[in-house]
Amino acid sequence: MNAVLALSHPCFREHDTGPNHPECADRMDAVEAGLRAGNLTARLTWERPEPVSREQLLRIHGVEYVDHLLALDGQSARLDPDTVVSPGTLPAALCAAGAAVRGVDAVLSGKFRHAVSLARPPGHHACRDRSMGFCLFNNIAVAAARALNAHGLQKVVILDIDVHHGNGTQEIFYSSSQVTYCSIHQSPWYPGTGALEETGEGMGRGHTINLPLPGGMGDPDYLYSNRELFLPLITKIRPQMVLVSAGFDAHLLDPLADMSVTTAGFGFLYRELFHVLESIDCPSVMVLEGGYAPQALSEGVSTMVEAALDPASGAETPPPALPHGDTVRLVAAAKHLASLRE
Ligand SMILES: [Zn+2]
Repeated sequence: MNAVLALSHPCFREHDTGPNHPECADRMDAVEAGLRAGNLTARLTWERPEPVSREQLLRIHGVEYVDHLLALDGQSARLDPDTVVSPGTLPAALCAAGAAVRGVDAVLSGKFRHAVSLARPPGHHACRDRSMGFCLFNNIAVAAARALNAHGLQKVVILDIDVHHGNGTQEIFYSSSQVTYCSIHQSPWYPGTGALEETGEGMGRGHTINLPLPGGMGDPDYLYSNRELFLPLITKIRPQMVLVSAGFDAHLLDPLADMSVTTAGFGFLYRELFHVLESIDCPSVMVLEGGYAPQALSEGVSTMVEAALDPASGAETPPPALPHGDTVRLVAAAKHLASLRE
């Protein structure tokens, strides 16, 4: 069984997005309830993360942007139509980035095989100089920068399975050859980026791999994409670390998207991912992003954590189910574009 570190902090509940906002404090209750129901809480090592430093944020975000947000500590503000600041937001946002960073430090210390950051607010829409889509700091990007700058890693893969395209993460690493950003997402959909043809620029050419799928896709499509595109790519790249933007809003029950992935589907996807990571001796950090149906989030996190603890657990891998024709075509196109990488 793998040693897995879970990062959580009471301050994540203090980021108050107001009434009827889907990205709400109750999400943390759903996450904890799922782990309890799966009898997983005691199998994890728990830690409270520290807030990230200003210096670490500046590895990713612009100085004016960082200082503007830091100056909002204790205040209320609206940063974009979806993204609000409440008096408790800044400590939560700083600890959310700190949790992802701690995850990187923990798995690179060798003490833990995988780490999971159970934090909010999420991060993958946050751009260098802009908050959007519930995100303030780009937690996973700050974590990737930590891996490169503090630990000297040279090959990191970010796998973004949130149903929305991680436009912020893509933008931040668009010209990097050290961080390969892979995303499967619904398209057309918020935030509108993530076309197949967006493959990186300069040194980063070929290091952005987007798989935009039409709405309505389910387990066969996600498993096919994982098996045919992402897992072979990870095997080929042999990254020193994989960071996962772990969203659960591609779930059938999610109110913010139209995909039909089931909890069992997420389970197969993660188990197959961890099998491959084991085969190349690669640690990972899962960083919570979206997931707005409490039951789906609860079950999704639980099945992901169970897979991280023991990839051999759970039901047997299903025979390859028939994906949609669009999925087969888009995966082939993405594979072709990825094969052109320098
Ligand atoms: Zn999302």
